[in-house]
Amino acid sequence: MSLLTVGTVAFDTITTATAKAERVIGGAGSYSGWAASFFHTPVNLVSIIGEDFPQETIAEMEARGIQTEGLERVLGKKSFFWEGEYLADFSSRTTHATELNVLADFDPQLPQSYLSSEYVLLANLTPAIQKSVLTQIGSSAKLTVLDTMNFWMDTALDELLEVINMVDVLTINDEEARQLSGKHSLMEAATKILTMGPRYLIIKKGEHGAMLFSNDGIFSCPAIPLAKVEDPTGAGDCFAGAFLGYIAREQSTSFDTLKKAIVYGSVVASYCVEEFSLDRLKSLEWSDVEARYEMLVDMMTV
Ligand code: AMP
Repeated sequence: MSLLTVGTVAFDTITTATAKAERVIGGAGSYSGWAASFFHTPVNLVSIIGEDFPQETIAEMEARGIQTEGLERVLGKKSFFWEGEYLADFSSRTTHATELNVLADFDPQLPQSYLSSEYVLLANLTPAIQKSVLTQIGSSAKLTVLDTMNFWMDTALDELLEVINMVDVLTINDEEARQLSGKHSLMEAATKILTMGPRYLIIKKGEHGAMLFSNDGIFSCPAIPLAKVEDPTGAGDCFAGAFLGYIAREQSTSFDTLKKAIVYGSVVASYCVEEFSLDRLKSLEWSDVEARYEMLVDMMTV
């Protein structure tokens, strides 16, 4: 039984109201793989990096059970780079730069050992690559989850709609749900997006939690109230990685399991935002995860 994640492995420069972090390790593949590895290993990572990416980080990933056979390094080229800036209250962010670099020519051929992956996370990257991975996995997938971003809605909408139509679960944030559906009300947006193919839609609402929509019902999970947020980057990827990691661990795709997976996703995301880059995830213990899981369950119980 195995879990695969495909997403960017990158450098990020991030500006918040109080700090700036330059060229720190980021990327949807890095965050989602790390988050998933708390629940299930191996995590089969598919991505591409340039000559500039530190070998030390790859060694740290491998030590956590993240397989890097599907992580291609291109000598003489640069890794994906993203630069973003947050409003003082973190309610929205502006992208200042997206440099695809090695990602522009990436055409992954999955290693043989990845082909039977059952739980597949198409984390944020080019929709055409997400589609190629999905097609190579074929019918061995028990649950496929797609995460994406406004950048791909703006630049590759047709390909994105094609992949959305192929997956079981779509996770996007509230702004992206509104952009994709053209509807302001999240209920209306969800109803419309569920006609685009996925059986389940998860809308992430930052500090206001996350909602699961489907024909089986609706579930709403609050976010952990945090005294201090350092950097929200990667929260969505951690959410998706932990969500699918928990599902892979339970080997169940019931609505009940999905609900618990959302709670675990919210927990790991809440830790991620406490520090820049992967820093908080690196010091995170399983007991920390369990403590906030209990806290969220308590918050939802009447
Ligand atoms: P999140 O905050 O969960 O939306 O994810 C932020 C991460 O996504 C950062 O570490 C970036 O490196 C990465 N990223 C930013 N823009 C893109 C993009 N267009 N495609 C793929 N990954 C991206």
